[in-house]
Amino acid sequence: KKITIAIDGYSSTGKSTIAKQLAKALGYVYVDSGAMYRAVTLYALENGFIGEETNKIQALIKMLPYIKLKFEFNQALGYAEMYLDGKNVEKEIRSLRISEYVSTVAAVSEVRQKLVDIQKNMGKDKGVVMDGRDIGTVVFPDAELKLFMTASPETRAHRRYKELLDRGEDVDFKDVLKNVQNRDYIDSHRVNSPLTKAEGAIEFDNTDMGLQDQFER
Ligand code: C5P
Repeated sequence: KKITIAIDGYSSTGKSTIAKQLAKALGYVYVDSGAMYRAVTLYALENGFIGEETNKIQALIKMLPYIKLKFEFNQALGYAEMYLDGKNVEKEIRSLRISEYVSTVAAVSEVRQKLVDIQKNMGKDKGVVMDGRDIGTVVFPDAELKLFMTASPETRAHRRYKELLDRGEDVDFKDVLKNVQNRDYIDSHRVNSPLTKAEGAIEFDNTDMGLQDQFER
């Protein structure tokens, strides 16, 4: 019998790593819900709805029905990649610039409504591992397994810093740390489905854990 696995937690706590490990071992579908918020943020930046001196959230809300989001499975990678209006945006959505705006976009209730509907639909046949900030609380409150991932802020910032460098982005460690802390603050203080440990979730601190140890536990 297939179940639903909901993984939540602060930024860069290794949610997607454990989610991918589990999906692969179980033959489940992995869904990165953060990629969807990142894609909407990319759309908003590219179309001038948000930016250093713009904040046209109402105009963005009007365009929401026309934003086309799609996951397409990449056989070689073993997981799905994010497409925005037919274009693969997997690389662009991981940039620090997107990270700097994503939590503001994710705080908009109309944005959340659209994405949560899509996510619920993706999980209707079970056999799904989804990670994010509101999966165990809002998207799949009935998930059979809920994990709440934590790790120290410095460990998390180091992981994200290394990831960005590996992707060829020229970033400062202190900007990455600041971004991780900012997002944690906005994500856990917003009015609409703030990040919080779901009822029945197992808390999992992986600060000093290797990938294999984490997976086995
Ligand atoms: O998981 P990731 O770090 O890519 O998520 C980026 C941002 O998207 C988060 O900081 C949060 O603001 C938002 N998000 C959310 N709800 C989710 C997944 C992500 O609000 N389920």
